[in-house]
Amino acid sequence: MSFESLGLQADILRAITEKGYTQPTPIQQQAIMPVLEGKDLMAGAQTGTGKTAGFTLPVLQRLIETDKPRKGRRPVRALILTPTRELAAQVHESVQTYGRYLPLKSTVVFGGVSINPQKQKLIKGVDILVATPGRLLDHVSQRSVDLSKVDILVLDEADRMLDMGFIRDIRKVLDLLPQKKQTLLFSATFSDDIKKLANDLLDSPSLIEVARRNTASETVKQVVHPVDKKRKRELLSLLIRSHEWQQVLVFTRTKHGANRLAEQLGKDGVTSAAIHGNKSQGARTRALADFKSGKIRVLVATDIAARGLDIDQLPHVVNYELPNVAEDYVHRIGRTGRAGNEGEAMSLVCVDELKLLKDIEKLINRDIPKVEFEGFEPDPNIKPEPIQNGRGRNQKRPAKGKQGQRASNRRNNRRSNTSDSSKQDHPRNTSRHRRKNTHQDTSIS
Ligand code: AMP
Repeated sequence: MSFESLGLQADILRAITEKGYTQPTPIQQQAIMPVLEGKDLMAGAQTGTGKTAGFTLPVLQRLIETDKPRKGRRPVRALILTPTRELAAQVHESVQTYGRYLPLKSTVVFGGVSINPQKQKLIKGVDILVATPGRLLDHVSQRSVDLSKVDILVLDEADRMLDMGFIRDIRKVLDLLPQKKQTLLFSATFSDDIKKLANDLLDSPSLIEVARRNTASETVKQVVHPVDKKRKRELLSLLIRSHEWQQVLVFTRTKHGANRLAEQLGKDGVTSAAIHGNKSQGARTRALADFKSGKIRVLVATDIAARGLDIDQLPHVVNYELPNVAEDYVHRIGRTGRAGNEGEAMSLVCVDELKLLKDIEKLINRDIPKVEFEGFEPDPNIKPEPIQNGRGRNQKRPAKGKQGQRASNRRNNRRSNTSDSSKQDHPRNTSRHRRKNTHQDTSIS
């Protein structure tokens, strides 16, 4: 199947060809036509499948087809909501790339950066707005955006948005949109909450699903190197230098761990930077740009900071520490082997993490090959210790008293930025720790 046969117009085809795409991915093959026909869509697809072009291409075309001459400021006609700042920035980049030959204007708004430049752009008028929910509501309350003319709503990574506690914000946004519109919902998983949201929102949607990442991860070569905790850094440094890896994304469980590792690798002569929720948006953008351009070899990230990152043909992902939640492993290794490219995911696993490894293998339904590295064989006398890194996903949160609840409501009502005061950089935790005007950053806006 070709892009031409999907009914896309010449200016869009030209941009896709220049980007180097020759064939639509499965999600694009299934999504583009129904969206062009104006249908609602419920799509099961994760990052890495080409889902962004799957909705952006037909949305651009619909906006062109339904554009009419008008006086005054251009109204927002397509609104794309994403859970994280990085994903918002990336989606907007795609909108600009695919729409470069079209007379459409777009912008992106997210928290953690000054609101004023965003206001200026919005006030001039845009056709397409990519936004994270919190910052979008800030703009609504400051009257810099009018959502009453939105024809197309896209909820990207809807499961993550709910996971991060955005449901109230999403519902507030929905109240501001016209009743009649086209809605596209993308989600990697379909919990009862997602189904309920879809039921409320979608009108006889086309249902499409492409292979979940834990089956699609076939293109990723996975390996576990058993190693003692205290020797992980030494092994990682050796592997990077001996294989001459030039671009490696490394995952740690905590922000502190990410900082420390980046620092230590730097001392070993491996250029590195850490990216996590306590870094300013500017520092994160810079680190990502340096990593993409090859200025630094290693980007050390926590799960939330890396969510949605799209780095073309990233060859190596290293789990310096396994995640507490098995699904996060699938998301992590999904950073490599994207859109059919080969990738390699390596996990350094110490005795404390064997239970986590088992959970992961159960989820992906296969054993990951274990290869001991000569000179780094684990010491059989070391006994496993509990992993000390804050609350896991399945553990209960302490109950809120009335006062705590009121404070939390107040915070939710005037949400602007977010902060993650927990040690672990995880959305489940971050969503509970919002403060206005904080100088701390997380990926959530
Ligand atoms: P996404 O799932 O939208 O994050 O996209 C994952 C990666 O696939 C991005 O780097 C895209 O540039 C790339 N991609 C999207 N569509 C295609 C295509 N049809 N052919 C080749 N690469 C693509």
